[in-house]
Amino acid sequence: MGPPGAGKGTQARFVAEHFGIPAISTGDIFRANVSQGTPLGVEAKRYMDAGEYVPDEVTNLMVRNRIDEPDAEPGFLLDGYPRTLAQVTELDGMIAFTGHQLDAVVVLTVDPEELVQRLLQRAQTDGRADDTEDVIRRRQEVYAEQTEPLIGVYRERGILVEVDGVGEVDEVTARIFDALDVVPQS
Ligand code: ADP
Repeated sequence: MGPPGAGKGTQARFVAEHFGIPAISTGDIFRANVSQGTPLGVEAKRYMDAGEYVPDEVTNLMVRNRIDEPDAEPGFLLDGYPRTLAQVTELDGMIAFTGHQLDAVVVLTVDPEELVQRLLQRAQTDGRADDTEDVIRRRQEVYAEQTEPLIGVYRERGILVEVDGVGEVDEVTARIFDALDVVPQS
């Protein structure tokens, strides 16, 4: 978890690689659908371009289908899901069914102004449609309203791992590994 621009996608790949499990990014799956012009992509794009969350029913079904894939059987890392309290409940139900359990919820913390700067920077290099200043600010608001409350939920469950997301990419990775108590591969 972490606000837009916190570095979730970047760090998710390192953590997933370490554990030999897939990193499942809801944002990436939506973007792949958008570029392929699938009905899911057409639906999702309306929300993403405005900085709003895609409706829970759509997102939940997509995640359910993805974690049913054979490569997710040994375990998986979710990047960008759950983001609402309803998604938390839904995920609990899904993994009760598949027999998985949540080992840890990593939250990357970064100061909001630093985030806006990072995203504006990314806009210049990656050209993502939702990296304009207005949309970036809206995404931060939506995160604060709908996703931040999840931190308390997972803290109460005793599985929250808070990591400082400011610094070089490999420094942040090292902090995550340290907090998860794993030995880095290289
Ligand atoms: P960000 O860096 O803005 O968090 P993501 O790539 O994770 O970017 O997500 C991009 C967009 O995809 C979000 O702004 C939202 O519209 C949609 N999205 C991703 N995950 C979810 C989710 N769990 N629930 C609803 N919408 C989502």
